[in-house]
Amino acid sequence: MSDLRIAIAGVGKIARDQHIPSLARVEGVGLVAACSRNATVKGIANFPTIEAMLDGMPEIDAVALCTPPGVRHAYAAAALRAGKHVLLEKPPGATLSEIEPLAAFAAEKGLTLFATWHSRFAPAVDAARRFLADAVIGKVEVEWKEDVRHWHPGQAWIWEPGGLGVFDPGINALSIVTAILPQPIFLTGSTLEFPGNRAQPIAATLAFADGRGLEVSAVFDWRQTGPQTWDIRADTDKGRIVLSSGGSVLTIDGTVVSNAPEAEYDGIYKHFARLVAEGRSEVDVSPLRHVADAFLLGRRVEVEAFHD
Ligand code: NAP
Repeated sequence: MSDLRIAIAGVGKIARDQHIPSLARVEGVGLVAACSRNATVKGIANFPTIEAMLDGMPEIDAVALCTPPGVRHAYAAAALRAGKHVLLEKPPGATLSEIEPLAAFAAEKGLTLFATWHSRFAPAVDAARRFLADAVIGKVEVEWKEDVRHWHPGQAWIWEPGGLGVFDPGINALSIVTAILPQPIFLTGSTLEFPGNRAQPIAATLAFADGRGLEVSAVFDWRQTGPQTWDIRADTDKGRIVLSSGGSVLTIDGTVVSNAPEAEYDGIYKHFARLVAEGRSEVDVSPLRHVADAFLLGRRVEVEAFHD
């Protein structure tokens, strides 16, 4: 089968750090075009808008949306209208309700819509899921703390409505939690810390339950400097597991059982090619639903102003 001809929309940090290198490495996919208002990618066709790209290059098979979430729906709808498969960066939309019509549209057109959660492709996540599948889980603690200045330098959109603030990384933790726990959970409370000069939170504390005794707590904080913390710990009848480094390393009772090199975006593109070949879509909104619930139940606390 010939390579899936992929175009990228939104050439920013994640497109350059991950999508473009993975598209060059993974067999069965290839980058043929990009659209971005200000940026270009060397060696391929570049367009200033998605409409110009879809009109100018009818041979494109699929579009990978690497823009901020605010324009995700409009770009995805345009690509589906033009008969292209669509890969959505996380989060899959700015709202929950905008995603369902996209999924219905893709199904109607016989196209693949893939709402990616890159952290689910971290190398130790599947081992953690298998460990927990038959465990009695008492308590889960999530600690996701990073330096916003390092990961989102000068990104104004992330602090605006729809940008998610600290939930931009926090949703990665929730995408892992929802993938590894054998039962669904629901939010019971949240506290959101907003810098006085920003529309989105810089830190959040969340509590979840499953109604059957499981307790899950999560702390997200963007003010961490030095080493970053991306850990999920679970106490079970089979032992205590720690999934650390964003899902890369798994320890059981202090012994490392899984520690492989990171290859999240290669995994994403291999899976996308498989979904397209099999004529399937994959659209799981559960991490975004938990974030929406955190805003619904959130107690707002004002903290020190944040300056880039
Ligand atoms: P970014 O560096 O700001 O890049 C996004 C690009 O999208 C911009 O450079 C911009 O390029 C284009 N764009 C189109 N419409 C835009 C609009 N209305 N406002 C702002 N930019 C617009 O952001 P990013 O870090 O790559 O994040 C993009 C998505 O990837 C987000 O959903 C984020 O959650 C996700 N993600 C990011 C990371 C990370 O480490 N940064 C990791 C995983 C996932 P033009 O100006 O040329 O149009």
